Amino acid sequence: MAVLLAVSRSGVASAATRSVPLVSCRRWAGAPADTVYDVVVSGGGLVGAAMACALDRVTVLYRSKAVGYTWPYPFSMADSSPWVHITLGDGSTLQTKLLIGADGHNSGVRQAAGIQNVSWNYDQSAVVATLHLSEVTENNVAWQRFLPSGPIALLPLSDTLSSLVWSTSHEHAAELVSMDEENFVDAINSAFWSDANHTDFIDSASTMLHYAVAFLKPTKASARQLPPSVARVDAKSRVLFPLGLGHAAEYVRPRLALIGDAAHRVHPLAGQGVNMGFGDIASLLHHLSTAAFNGKDLGSISHLTGYETDRQRHNTALLAATDLLKRLYSTSATPLVLLRTWGLQATNAVSPLKEQIMAFASK
Ligand SMILES: Cc1cc2nc3c(=O)[nH]c(=O)nc-3n(C[C@H](O)[C@H](O)[C@H](O)COP(=O)(O)OP(=O)(O)OC[C@H]3O[C@@H](n4cnc5c(N)ncnc54)[C@H](O)[C@@H]3O)c2cc1C
Repeated sequence: MAVLLAVSRSGVASAATRSVPLVSCRRWAGAPADTVYDVVVSGGGLVGAAMACALDRVTVLYRSKAVGYTWPYPFSMADSSPWVHITLGDGSTLQTKLLIGADGHNSGVRQAAGIQNVSWNYDQSAVVATLHLSEVTENNVAWQRFLPSGPIALLPLSDTLSSLVWSTSHEHAAELVSMDEENFVDAINSAFWSDANHTDFIDSASTMLHYAVAFLKPTKASARQLPPSVARVDAKSRVLFPLGLGHAAEYVRPRLALIGDAAHRVHPLAGQGVNMGFGDIASLLHHLSTAAFNGKDLGSISHLTGYETDRQRHNTALLAATDLLKRLYSTSATPLVLLRTWGLQATNAVSPLKEQIMAFASK
């Protein structure tokens, strides 16, 4: 497992918070200089790495695994509570005023702190792969098609490459990762192009709404586009991930904050997992910068709860919406298929509503 811990001494700053004046964090007088840190980020995935990039004067401990955490006991509101102690795989220890758990959905930090996590597994796994397109194209549109077994998505990487995220039953996902390249490419192309799952009734209802929208908003008519076809797949890029939902009951404790998948795990159908993590970082930095500016202890619960309130309000709404979409798109009952088809088209047609949804999701 490639892991790292990012450790910051003295100061939090980021592009998002540079407008806020910062003061250096206080050092713990008398502590061994190289083992006591203001902030330690445990986990070097996308969110942990981004968090570390946003901190000043960072030391990165590559290939280090945290194997134990000792918490200030009892969890205390006082700024004078002792530091968090972190034991690394090589036996060395770190101490920090604030431990940021960015160690993914099985977060050891969350478990060590005894924070409850509401979670369930979906009846789906996702197959991801890097795909080569059949021709060079202006590849700047993400495509997603909802099949009865789950959504398949092509996300643009370059004019010739796209990334695949195909959510489907566990059995089908296992079949997809083990089949030869030619059959895999055929399966992707036919998943995007086949009409096998269409019904005449739904198609007619959808076309009716499309014409109604075009009649009411004639200037907004847009040309129909088609997804690109796939020629081959990068060797060894095909991997399978079981899917699930998770949400930590608390994001913070004294001297602890959870960010990214350690705090919340969503189905990839809305492509929101990393965005939510980046939103956590922006919010946490805002609250830490304010604390630093006011000369407060970075690990104090008083400003960490501000972060928790901001992000739980936002993340729970997105988690619920994503879970609802997953369930809505898992059914083939005609009334629900019609409802979701019309709902999607209507949302697309009402620009202010669409913009509001996009603005909320990107926070
Ligand atoms: C199939 C699939 C497709 C997705 N597609 C999208 C998408 O299109 N858009 C989107 O926004 N999101 C997507 N997501 C979600 C996104 O991948 C996650 O939200 C994001 O990667 C979470 O990042 P993270 O850094 O919080 O956690 P992780 O990526 O899980 O990183 C955690 C890191 O912590 C390290 N670690 C764990 N334990 C320790 C320890 N004890 N000591 C030190 N380090 C440790 C791990 O090695 C890992 O590097 C998708 C997810 C899946 C499964």
